[in-house]
Amino acid sequence: MINIPKGTKDVLPQDSYKWQYVEGMAREVAKLFSLKEIRTPVFEYTELFQRGVGDTTDVVTKEMYTFKDKGDRSMTLKPEGTAGVARSFIENGMSSGVLPAKMYYIIPAFRYERPQAGRLREFHQFGVEIYGAASAQTDAETILIAETLLKKLGLQVKLCINSIGCPTCRANYNKALKDFFAPHLEGLCNDCKTRYEKNPLRLLDCKEENCKKVNANAPTILEYLCEDCKAHFDEVRACLDLAGVEYEVDPRIVRGLDYYTRTVFEFISTSIGAQGTVCGGGRYDVLIEQLGGKPTPAVGFAAGLERLLMVMEQSGVQIPEPEKPTVYLAGMDGACRKKAFELATVLRNHGIIAEIDHMERSVKAQFKYADKLGAKFVAVIGGNELEQGIVMLKNMATGESESVAFGDLVNYLEGK
Ligand code: ATP
Ligand code: MG
Repeated sequence: MINIPKGTKDVLPQDSYKWQYVEGMAREVAKLFSLKEIRTPVFEYTELFQRGVGDTTDVVTKEMYTFKDKGDRSMTLKPEGTAGVARSFIENGMSSGVLPAKMYYIIPAFRYERPQAGRLREFHQFGVEIYGAASAQTDAETILIAETLLKKLGLQVKLCINSIGCPTCRANYNKALKDFFAPHLEGLCNDCKTRYEKNPLRLLDCKEENCKKVNANAPTILEYLCEDCKAHFDEVRACLDLAGVEYEVDPRIVRGLDYYTRTVFEFISTSIGAQGTVCGGGRYDVLIEQLGGKPTPAVGFAAGLERLLMVMEQSGVQIPEPEKPTVYLAGMDGACRKKAFELATVLRNHGIIAEIDHMERSVKAQFKYADKLGAKFVAVIGGNELEQGIVMLKNMATGESESVAFGDLVNYLEGK
């Protein structure tokens, strides 16, 4: 037997309605905020992620599914959604179209990580990308999109926000970080030693206990924001206040991808501990330019669908079950089964969910099966019924039966 690859999961037929529910809610919220769906390939040239996500990030250095295709090109399964959307925005000349470009996606993403609850190698994201708008209101609206979805899904979450400034304030901050970490270098992990050289901001993102201890006393970016970045952050906060959204400023959030500037945020579930970050995002004003496009401000987020579902389950959110068949048509013998097949077709053509026997079971066994399916009615067709052109229609909830003519079935069952 061949097993499923490590870190991946099947969504089984009895569970897929939960996914459809969350995805449906995401599409509904997207509509509410005038976002249009964008679909980009599952794989891209590896270079896109190296340049877009950043080649000092964990995602790029350790987690990418990279392979050579038969033409000897280096390809990568997308580890996140933004780089592909940014590539498409540039390639399709969207900067000379209607701005802002308000987009969303629902995608699988791939990261070679150590699998655990809520951390998979193939996972799924609902993401939002708004390109072309620099205002703080757009940051706040982006946060509101995520908040609206999380609320609709019935989740208790905490919103944490921060600003990581622009390249100018970041340069000053990186210098301060290097000064701070210099005397502690020996005690840091090897990754952090590289981070110290290449991208000191990444030091704050380390998950190693010892590094985390040192990090706790590091200077915070907020002390280093330039006037413009500070004003932008104040404005984002004012907009959130206006919208009645509660948040906490957490100067330790730096996010795991290199492209962020100014606002960054995370929604963290308060009902579970580990892997509680259900959604992360922020502004990335230099990404489009970095990928060769016209300078275009941008802001967005991605929410992990597995994490959303996990938190919903753990906090006891009830997801409505899919609609059950209205009627199960049970035929006694060959000719009756044929009639059941014919009637089911008529009913389905009228939009009524009808099911029939596929296993040549006895009527008794068919009743059992209909019960398992949760059919609201069972229509029995025996020899007598066939002759008279009727079915014996049993209401499974009340147990009552009555005869209904073939020709009246649609009328009887419509709206039931
Ligand atoms: P984490 O800190 O949990 O590793 P991240 O910062 O790497 O998250 P992002 O790159 O911001 O995550 O991705 C956005 C969201 O996608 C996360 O908030 C999370 O819900 C989800 N996510 C990220 N990696 C995984 C994974 N390996 N398995 C399942 N969900 C994931
Ligand atoms: Mg991660």
